[in-house]
Amino acid sequence: MNTKKESVPAVETKGLTKLYGGKAAVKDLNLRVGEGQIYGFIGRNGAGKSTTLKMISGLASPTQGEVSLFGKPLSDPVVRRRLGVLIEAAGLYPNMTARQNVVMKAKCMGLAEEKSIDQVLDLTGLSNTGKKQVKHFSMGMKQRLGVALALLGNPDLLILDEPINGLDPEGIKELRQLVLKLQEEGKTILLSSHILGELSKIATNYGIIKDGELMEQITRSELEEKCQDYFQVEVGDVRRALPVIQESFPQVQAEVSDARIIRIYGLSEGVELNRRLAENQVPVYGSGFHHIDLEEYFLERMGEESV
Ligand code: ATP
Repeated sequence: MNTKKESVPAVETKGLTKLYGGKAAVKDLNLRVGEGQIYGFIGRNGAGKSTTLKMISGLASPTQGEVSLFGKPLSDPVVRRRLGVLIEAAGLYPNMTARQNVVMKAKCMGLAEEKSIDQVLDLTGLSNTGKKQVKHFSMGMKQRLGVALALLGNPDLLILDEPINGLDPEGIKELRQLVLKLQEEGKTILLSSHILGELSKIATNYGIIKDGELMEQITRSELEEKCQDYFQVEVGDVRRALPVIQESFPQVQAEVSDARIIRIYGLSEGVELNRRLAENQVPVYGSGFHHIDLEEYFLERMGEESV
């Protein structure tokens, strides 16, 4: 008997939709974030990332559709306590220290233990900021303090909206390390960004949103596979070229990418392939190896020239 259970996702949305004045900001979104993942939610400005994250966090109500966390509806107060959120400004008090900010929020949440305050300050690297007031913090420190507040109550799921926006390279690096550390502690992290390269250094999974619709959900390894090297040939007639390629090189995977272009994955060199095509009277107008980088892949999926 197979006793292995299908794990319950940390986040699941079904048909999630939000209309603003009759216009859909989010359309029929079926998103699934597995436990322990760092899920990168990617899309250009206005694509619907914040609206989606707000609905998942209970900060905006869906026009239609459902959200469940760890297999329970979002309306379940027990499951809500497993969620920590940083969306938009963290609501920091500028004249207070990091610790005072954390104490203030802990009190509001009814958390009396000093231990939980020390824990979140330690985790976010803010234990040694002493008497320094938040107004003198760097953007990166403020952002980490926002994460510290979201971590109060030791949530299993953390939702961070554009956490690297406005950070300098050092701040980005620190936040990246923090997210990895939180994952190691067993937390699930759902974070949005329009900065692709930064996300790709940490995300285990991706969701790509465009005009309110989820274009694709993909794992890191699937993405790496899609971005592998391929050999591209431009031919006069793909219908004649394809069988020649498939018969001559049965181990490769050939994909027709447009009326004249075939992409071939798993080929180590191209001379023999060009020779076979020529032998079979298939004219070749151009050929060569290509590599899609992550950015190119995402931009293609988002239908954008640049973000
Ligand atoms: P950004 O990174 O710029 O915030 P985003 O991907 O998070 O982009 P959303 O903020 O979710 O996108 O916005 C999606 C769409 O919904 C946009 O067209 C936006 O103008 C619209 N929208 C968002 N919030 C509201 C609101 N409160 N009232 C009306 N329209 C809204």
